[in-house]
Amino acid sequence: MWELQGEVVLYTSSQDHNSEKSTNEGPLLTPEISKSVREGRLVGYQCLDCGAKAIEVQAYCAKCGSSKLRIAKLESRGKVLAFTIQAVSPKEFKNDAPYAWSVIELDGGVRISGRIASIKSPDNLRIGQRVQLMRSEKSGIVFEKILE
Ligand SMILES: [Zn+2]
Repeated sequence: MWELQGEVVLYTSSQDHNSEKSTNEGPLLTPEISKSVREGRLVGYQCLDCGAKAIEVQAYCAKCGSSKLRIAKLESRGKVLAFTIQAVSPKEFKNDAPYAWSVIELDGGVRISGRIASIKSPDNLRIGQRVQLMRSEKSGIVFEKILE
């Protein structure tokens, strides 16, 4: 169950996991994570045993197998590891296409995929580009280029 403890939401594994959808098709965002994205921050999970962090909904730590997970703040900045330019997009993003669909490595090492705003061609982006999370009302995670 989700318990609010101050600003930290703790996930305990005593819940019946049948009520949660499990998928390997990319990150499954909980309402808490989707809310954080709308507010311009990023939260994920942290293992209480080994400290590993992740963004996907999961019942066990991918690094050590522990079931003691909590919601944790993730870095909102990172760098582009890989990207493709998407000319054809889902309906919701029709007005945004073309855009870059990318794999981002957040500072701290967590990898996630998301869109990068205002990228219309491969010339607009490079591997290693620094990016940061944008506030977004749409589903999914959106980043923007930053100069550091
Ligand atoms: Zn762990």
